[in-house]
Amino acid sequence: MRILLIGAPGAGKGTQATLLSQALGLPHISSGDLLRDHIERETALGSAVRGYVARGDLVPDAVVRDMLRKPVVAAAQGGGYILDGFPRTLEQAEDAYETARDLGVEVQVAVHLDVPEADLVQRLLERGRGKDDTEDVIRHRLEVYRERTVPMLAYYAEREELVSVDGSAPADDVSRAVLALLEAVRARLSTPT
Ligand code: ADP
Repeated sequence: MRILLIGAPGAGKGTQATLLSQALGLPHISSGDLLRDHIERETALGSAVRGYVARGDLVPDAVVRDMLRKPVVAAAQGGGYILDGFPRTLEQAEDAYETARDLGVEVQVAVHLDVPEADLVQRLLERGRGKDDTEDVIRHRLEVYRERTVPMLAYYAEREELVSVDGSAPADDVSRAVLALLEAVRARLSTPT
């Protein structure tokens, strides 16, 4: 199954992706992790994106798209993926669909981890991610989520590919809920209409 996780910073995408990856035996592909890895290894791509990531701004679409193409196609050919962090805007979703559809690797189900904003700020401040995660950067990342990612939810909802779970529950409860929803989606996908 080809799954996209959508959630605000702090919504628990990373935790859920790991749990789901184990439960379903699918690789977890995180745009944020891949970008941070480039930054750490000081690759050319890493130095091009460092500033955006530190500010909490989105890096240019073409950079993420090109970085993800190979791993996504490979995972899809191997049985599916759990994609986390990309697509992240309506434009990325539309653009990715155009490219992915021809290869048969497009997202089949988008899982929205829904967490109230007050909880998010609290979680993010507690977690920190080093000195970059000041309260200003956290608030900015939440604003970018609200302005750029939230409109993408309607895109998947219109396509009837969106499922939503309450992400404020304990992680194990959230993953149980997600797995149950995915089971229903799997049944639907395997029933020809
Ligand atoms: P979080 O889940 O905490 O919001 P991520 O780990 O998904 O953060 O991403 C960290 C940063 O990487 C983002 O703030 C952004 O700068 C960059 N990034 C990740 N995915 C994308 C994307 N699809 N498009 C543009 N920038 C991205």
